[in-house]
Amino acid sequence: MMNLILEVGNRILEGGELSWEEALQLSQAQGSDIQLLSAMAGKVREKYVGDKVDLCSIISARTGKCSEDCAFCAQSAHHHTNVKQHDFLDVEAIVSRAVEMEKAGAHHFDIVISGLGVREDDADFAKILEAFTRIKAATKLDLCACLGTLTEGAARKLKDVGVTRYNHNLETAKSFFPEIVTTHSYEERVKTIRIVKAMGMEVCCGGIIGLGETQEQRIEFAFTLKELDVDAVPINVLNPIKGTRLEGTQPLNPMEVLKNFALFRFILPKKNIRYAGGREVNLRDLQALGLMAGVNGMLVGSYLTTSGRDVKEDLQMIRDLGLRV
Ligand code: SF4
Repeated sequence: MMNLILEVGNRILEGGELSWEEALQLSQAQGSDIQLLSAMAGKVREKYVGDKVDLCSIISARTGKCSEDCAFCAQSAHHHTNVKQHDFLDVEAIVSRAVEMEKAGAHHFDIVISGLGVREDDADFAKILEAFTRIKAATKLDLCACLGTLTEGAARKLKDVGVTRYNHNLETAKSFFPEIVTTHSYEERVKTIRIVKAMGMEVCCGGIIGLGETQEQRIEFAFTLKELDVDAVPINVLNPIKGTRLEGTQPLNPMEVLKNFALFRFILPKKNIRYAGGREVNLRDLQALGLMAGVNGMLVGSYLTTSGRDVKEDLQMIRDLGLRV
């Protein structure tokens, strides 16, 4: 295993690639081999994306009452969770939150809404465009949107108000997706990703590990993201929410989580791989190690339906690791 990690790691550092079979072999790493794999992934991160950690923040501008049945999601109307549902927030509140997150150190601000997707004639879409216009005037933040499936017309309007990046997760491997979502298809999600790319916006597309998928399916998922050539890859680690279909799911072992972050870096050496939700709960004291295992971005502040830790603690962790914000 040690020789394989070093051989593949050096090949990627010299511009080569990792094959599917090698990824499967590396996924068998255990114990100190995971540490070596992580260290090589850190080298790859350093070479291709440097030592700067990119910080994103989000606001859930509309929460809950979603028609879809994503098994992990506290916002699905198919589940009975304690999530605080609300209709679209005041535009003023969204702009204030963006200003606050910029002061806290965030570089990107993402407006997220629940639901399958938006169309140009959606009542809330005009408010979203207004919020982005005002945030662009008031801050230097890069603007991101996460509004579900998109039409071409809606994508163009978002681009026109200054949105540079669109987040739309595939969530998991195509072969596992039907176990997790039955109300829409993987292809619908991929279609939105293609619309966003064709519009010239950056694509932020990742998912969740620990949903019950196999290790091979995690690798399948990473290779799909490679094929789609997405720009940023947010990876959540399942934090099972009471009342969802996955509430009783056994959490992944923290070292397994780190191994997968390292594998994603090997498969996607030049992409922005971000910590999204679930890192505090699943990695606990090992959170810093992810940044040494190939992660180069983080979602900070609150997540969609759960709270993150204080941004100051994340900034301290980044500085302690000798990385930059
Ligand atoms: S993940 Fe999105 S589409 Fe799926 S249930 Fe949650 S809010 Fe709805």
